[in-house]
Amino acid sequence: MLGGTFDPIHLGHLAIASEVCAELGLDQVLLVPANGQPFKEGMEAASPAHRLAMCRLVAEDDERLAVSPVDIERGGTTYTVDTLMDLRAQRPDAELFFITGADALARLDEWREPERLTELATFVGVTRPGHSLVRLEWPHVLVEAPELAISSTDVRRRVRNGRPIRYLVPRRVAEYIAEHGLYDGGLDD
Ligand code: ATP
Ligand code: MG
Repeated sequence: MLGGTFDPIHLGHLAIASEVCAELGLDQVLLVPANGQPFKEGMEAASPAHRLAMCRLVAEDDERLAVSPVDIERGGTTYTVDTLMDLRAQRPDAELFFITGADALARLDEWREPERLTELATFVGVTRPGHSLVRLEWPHVLVEAPELAISSTDVRRRVRNGRPIRYLVPRRVAEYIAEHGLYDGGLDD
């Protein structure tokens, strides 16, 4: 699983999903949009329904991708331990991998129930080419993936300022954003 706010999903997310899928020989990568994130209170710009819809458009175009609404349906603040417990209950025979940036992994002890997390899933830390890592105290697998200089924050800012997002997000996501007038709060910088 690859969790995130996905506000909106962009090609940086998809590049790591694709690379980890291939490197580890995974059957699929499940995109799991968060409802509310503990480190991001008040930062969300599009509704959970819109963020989920954009993920679904992307998954329709790649047979390795699927989407789970489990965190949005649970509601409230999303904690990874709840996500993994729900996914495990839904797929008792699946081996779960939790994909995250290696920087986030280095802060795993700030997450809820870190010990439990590492029992529920194999943690996959995505590193940038040519960068080595700080020591991680939890069991994990590292995968080197291309890091595209794209963030959802930048995509939202671009939309707000009337700048192009083509080649930063999948075409259908760009169309969805335009169609629904997402992130278009007028000029601000
Ligand atoms: P925001 O700018 O709103 O923080 P974001 O672009 O960082 O959004 P998230 O939804 O927060 O996107 O990220 C979900 C996951 O994808 C995280 O594990 C994050 O580290 C990873 N990620 C995000 N952008 C990239 C990128 N360009 N390259 C590699 N990994 C990325
Ligand atoms: Mg982020």
